[in-house]
Amino acid sequence: MNKKYLWLIKLFFVGNLLAIITFWYHNSPIGPASTVADGLVSLGRICGLLLAYLLLIQLILISRLKIIEGALGHDKLARWHRNLGISAALFLLAHPILLAFGYALNNSLSWSKQLYNFVFVSEALTGAVLATGLLIFIILVSSRVIGRRWRYEIWYFIHLFVYLAIFAAFGHQVELGGDFSQNAFLIYWYALFIFFWVLYGYARFLKPLNNLRRFRFQVSRIVPESDSIYSIFITGRHLEKFSLVGGQFGIFRFLQKGLWFEAHPFSFSRCLKDNEIRISIKKLGNFTEKLPDKLKIGTTVFIEGPLGVFTARPKKNKYLLISGGIGITPICSLAEELAKQKKDVRIFSALKNPAEEVFGAEMSELASTANFSYYRFYSEQTSDQAEQNIFAGRVKLEKIKSLVPDWREREIYFCGPPAMSTALNKELRQAGASKKQLHWERFNF
Ligand SMILES: Cc1cc2nc3c(=O)[nH]c(=O)nc-3n(C[C@H](O)[C@H](O)[C@H](O)COP(=O)(O)OP(=O)(O)OC[C@H]3O[C@@H](n4cnc5c(N)ncnc54)[C@H](O)[C@@H]3O)c2cc1C
Repeated sequence: MNKKYLWLIKLFFVGNLLAIITFWYHNSPIGPASTVADGLVSLGRICGLLLAYLLLIQLILISRLKIIEGALGHDKLARWHRNLGISAALFLLAHPILLAFGYALNNSLSWSKQLYNFVFVSEALTGAVLATGLLIFIILVSSRVIGRRWRYEIWYFIHLFVYLAIFAAFGHQVELGGDFSQNAFLIYWYALFIFFWVLYGYARFLKPLNNLRRFRFQVSRIVPESDSIYSIFITGRHLEKFSLVGGQFGIFRFLQKGLWFEAHPFSFSRCLKDNEIRISIKKLGNFTEKLPDKLKIGTTVFIEGPLGVFTARPKKNKYLLISGGIGITPICSLAEELAKQKKDVRIFSALKNPAEEVFGAEMSELASTANFSYYRFYSEQTSDQAEQNIFAGRVKLEKIKSLVPDWREREIYFCGPPAMSTALNKELRQAGASKKQLHWERFNF
């Protein structure tokens, strides 16, 4: 993780926040002589401005811009995204309510009549009403209660309307916003809007398109690894310049009829070898079930990435990597990377039974080198075969303590089913592991 840019990012976000508040303050009639109605209208306006600003920040947070991903990491990024989403929801509610109260006082109307006029009578507010409606809908869909019931693709499709909402809100603000009487604010607002969109467009479209042009990614092989897991090998040209490191993931879109409209995240299970990179996929749902049968050799692949910070820390020498099930994919490429760097590594692979194991041969080969050990844990097995590094049951703190006595000195990485990662995280933290020492990769956004 590259935290040195974190302060710069915070400074940029806070600096713009202060600029917006300053512009608003200079343009608003708030002061000792202002009426209650003026005050309410002004507060309503700042809520609208801050809502628009938070939406722009959200755009950047989901843009997968390298500097943001590197500085924040997956967990902090998800936390910021959630917290800013909640703040945006509050501003979204406060904006029309405060304006309705303010204008109601000025127009000697009831608050509800004023709100009714905003929504159903004033044609000038169509954009604002559209943006508010869309945003309320999206926030409801994003909430855990409703969002969880929907298929990911539907959830994703609905989120695309955020873009429409941002444009509708921006149009409404520059057209009607009383704060833009000052030209400087209007120019600043346009510049901010354009800057955020250019960054977003660069990270989400221009960069991956440029990568596709440069590297010409193509499917070269599809190989079954077990009953439910298969690997897709991707080749291209100049792949040595594709800046991928072990543990990272990409978002993959296979440009073939019937597949191109879905993009899915997968970790790289191997970095470059023999001019191929590899992803390995478990059949878990609609897309991952049909992919190995439908996907054709030679299909062009659009890759957003490489992304993520589940990667080696240059200054650290000792590692403990723990995988559960298909969570082996980033662990596998990370382990190879660490082996190249001659680090001291212990790997725990938690599985139900031997039939579930993939990349066992690769791991065992790595384990034949000096500073590497590979331990398997089978939850459906009843007894240990300790001499072969095979254990019965789940990965537990007790096992970590006995097999890796110096675990406190190690960077600990885990990727597996959420229940396993949560339990391990809790156990390790209670045993004194520092937050900095623990690194997770979650297979959901
Ligand atoms: C950073 C990251 C790395 C991943 N690495 C791997 C990997 O190496 N191997 C592997 O098998 N799986 C990996 N996954 C999970 C993989 O993306 C999902 O299993 C896959 O997208 C499921 O799609 P589906 O339509 O077959 O299943 P569905 O039945 O639609 O979904 C199954 C689960 O996957 C989630 N999901 C579905 N589509 C997406 C999507 N486009 N983006 C994010 N989540 C989605 C759903 O919310 C649900 O929880 C990774 C996920 C993330 C976020």
